[in-house]
Amino acid sequence: MTDNRLKKLRTLGKRYARATAMPHTEALNTLAMEFGFIHWKALIDAVKGDWNLSDEDLARAEEFAHQAGAKAHANAPNYDVSFIHEPAPEEGELCGHQYRIGDYLGDVVVSGKGWELRIPEAPLKAPIVEIDERHSETSPVKDTIFLAKLIEIAQDRSTRIRAQMAVDWPRRSTKADLDGVARHPLRGGDAATWHCHSCDAQMTGTQMAMNFWHCPNCGTHPLNIHAEPFDDQFPGEPVLTPDTAHRESPEVRIVEPRLTLHLNEAAVSTLIRCALLEDASSVNERLAAMRAEISLIDGEEVWITFDEMLWPEDKEPTAALAVATKLGLEVEQESSLFTEPFAWPDIGSMMSDTAEFTETLMKAYDEHGVIKR
Ligand SMILES: [Zn+2]
Repeated sequence: MTDNRLKKLRTLGKRYARATAMPHTEALNTLAMEFGFIHWKALIDAVKGDWNLSDEDLARAEEFAHQAGAKAHANAPNYDVSFIHEPAPEEGELCGHQYRIGDYLGDVVVSGKGWELRIPEAPLKAPIVEIDERHSETSPVKDTIFLAKLIEIAQDRSTRIRAQMAVDWPRRSTKADLDGVARHPLRGGDAATWHCHSCDAQMTGTQMAMNFWHCPNCGTHPLNIHAEPFDDQFPGEPVLTPDTAHRESPEVRIVEPRLTLHLNEAAVSTLIRCALLEDASSVNERLAAMRAEISLIDGEEVWITFDEMLWPEDKEPTAALAVATKLGLEVEQESSLFTEPFAWPDIGSMMSDTAEFTETLMKAYDEHGVIKR
């Protein structure tokens, strides 16, 4: 029963992470803290002990995730959508180039033919431009003026969406009073100084209201903004408003967006080892396949070094050779003396059943050696 509830709680954690753009582990920890645990691991330990997750607890967690805009009840038809804003992407044209603009977990993404621009939710982080290798010479985003205009369009959208989100908020949340006191739009509570629990920055109520309760420093979700600092000993530094600070310059990357098979040593040796396991018939041969040293020389030749105690000298690894042929690679085989995984290598050369091998091996150690755990 608890297992089932725990599963539901995990799912809520996932949805909460998605709604708040928090890392998954951080979201689970936040949920656990709602139940008075210091982190998720502590909650799991308690569940293994005698702490029971009740239906009421689950309902409370649902409400908590729901407040963050997560779909708390996956199939509830009429939950409150005032905070769940997933605006539809829009099409546009700039200097004769078509583009599409949309949102992905708080970031604004603008894309065109062979390029994509991502404006991170955090207000000061560098925009990221990715250009498809095949269009790297001709892409319009290489033009700095075009790119600057695109960034401006994306910033506008992001501000507009945050403003839409705030439509139903109390007046005191979107405008601080003369003393700089503002009200948290989701959790309530009035204060003139606010603290981000994601980056520890300290903000005024005026800054929070202007920035629609996203942290002006790291961009995190309003639910990570609290009237109390995360740690009383370190109340954090006051943050600059985005007016006086600037976004970092865009980072341009040339990328290959198609699925790419890199025939490097890691991929080649994985395929060859997989084939060696297919070639292996005894326990020893499987151990040899797992432990063989496989290297790729100059992208043309595969060297396979077998443990001479485990792989029979005259055995052809036919499956491995066939894989090498498909990859267009030459094969060199050699044997060397490895440190043995277990004493009495003869045992494994006669057996193919691993359980039977384990039993025999343990008996031998029992009689002629010692077993330590
Ligand atoms: Zn922050």
